Amino acid sequence: MIKVMKFGGTSVGSAEAIRRTAEIIIRDPGPKAVVVSAMSGVTNALIALPKEPEGKAGETLAWLREMHLTVARGEMTVELQREFEPLLEARMTGLRDALRSYHVSKDDERDVAYDALSSWGERLSSLTVAYVLRSLGCDAVAMTGEEAGIVATGTPGNGSADLFATGANLKARVLPLIEMGQVPIITGFYGIGPDGRPLTFGRGGSDYVGSVVANGLDADAVEIWTDVDGFMTADPRVVKDAKTLTEMDYNEAAELAYFGAKVLHPRTIEPARKKDLEVWVKNSFNPDGKGTRIFKIRRPGETMLRSVAMKKDLSIIKVYSGEIVYQPGLINKILDAVCSGGVTTYAVSTSLSTMAVLVPTDQVYDICERVKALKDDVEKVHVKEGVSLICAVGDGMLQTCGVSAKIFSAVSETGANVEMISEGASDVALNFVVGNERAVEVVKKLHDMYIGD
Ligand code: ADP
Ligand code: ASP
Ligand code: MG
Repeated sequence: MIKVMKFGGTSVGSAEAIRRTAEIIIRDPGPKAVVVSAMSGVTNALIALPKEPEGKAGETLAWLREMHLTVARGEMTVELQREFEPLLEARMTGLRDALRSYHVSKDDERDVAYDALSSWGERLSSLTVAYVLRSLGCDAVAMTGEEAGIVATGTPGNGSADLFATGANLKARVLPLIEMGQVPIITGFYGIGPDGRPLTFGRGGSDYVGSVVANGLDADAVEIWTDVDGFMTADPRVVKDAKTLTEMDYNEAAELAYFGAKVLHPRTIEPARKKDLEVWVKNSFNPDGKGTRIFKIRRPGETMLRSVAMKKDLSIIKVYSGEIVYQPGLINKILDAVCSGGVTTYAVSTSLSTMAVLVPTDQVYDICERVKALKDDVEKVHVKEGVSLICAVGDGMLQTCGVSAKIFSAVSETGANVEMISEGASDVALNFVVGNERAVEVVKKLHDMYIGD
């Protein structure tokens, strides 16, 4: 009956927010583990550190230290503050060492050193949250990803958890603490790679760690505590009257998260789905709100759109080669060239003599170099930058006759040209690409016509 509660950056972003979070944790009576993000703004600051001149970097480090000490002064008892401060200093020393290591790292070690540096925010916040909880009488214990045994594989900034190895570690190191009545406060965002160094799971990766920990502890549920009332019908920053969904199917949430809904890290659903455990999205600024329950549902019958997301700043790379479809293995070769180096492709489509892939714009140059290296097989490569992917989701939507026609007629009313379509691969989502300049308008239009009331 264990539960995992994950708190995001804004939920631990200030002394007041940490106190509110601590109260939510204490109010929940059952056995639990907690996963925390860095205080908001901290990971961004860490990522910017290597480019800062020495003086400015020193100021940033002092600001980071002061931020955590302010929480200590406001929310910890005098004795626990005294115990906390040397531990915080030790972590600040670790962070300074990580910055130094980055500066002396060789070119081919840079990404690994960068990942190690950016993972330090969670080590500071987990210690701080644990001591605030202890000051309120809760038997909390801070644990780093190393101590908890979160095992990661993959490339820097794009790690994946090894669920099997992590589960064994969590059962040996974390479960006994929970059984003794303690509340482990575990760092989000990163795990430990094969070389023993931190490997992050990408921006927003603490949600994924929450789900990985829930999977490893065979928990019943993972709660993602954030700054909105739940998973909504669209990004509330884009669509002002977006509504909170009370229930979602795993597939709906996974598609939306992958294609742009920032409320969940794209990989959060998978570890939960594997063990059939519920994912809840809740608001730490409104803890009594119902939140969104994400689980395995199949709604009977036909439905229309339930939520819409967008992913900006993508590019379509079009590869031309005579009669692509008749050359065995060529599609494979092109995809291999596109994807090597851990590139995420958001859509793929083929015709007789072209293949189009949708990729992040900041990776276009490298991808084109690799594709052009296929010389004899490739006639021409064309890039269209500045496009966005729109992901329209509804369980049962694609079994409903005429839905695509309705969606594209709404899109045409905005004057947007559809550059690429991906339909049929997913049971619940219809994805298509429009120019960046029209993306917000398209999201608003679809929301107005088919979701909002
Ligand atoms: P945290 O720091 O708690 O991880 P994030 O900033 O990563 O929080 O995610 C929460 C934010 O996601 C919300 O404030 C909201 O602006 C944004 N968001 C985007 N799409 C959605 C959506 N469909 N539902 C809810 N929030 C969304
Ligand atoms: N602190 C990390 C980030 O800002 C991870 C997270 O917040 O989930 O990306
Ligand atoms: Mg997040």
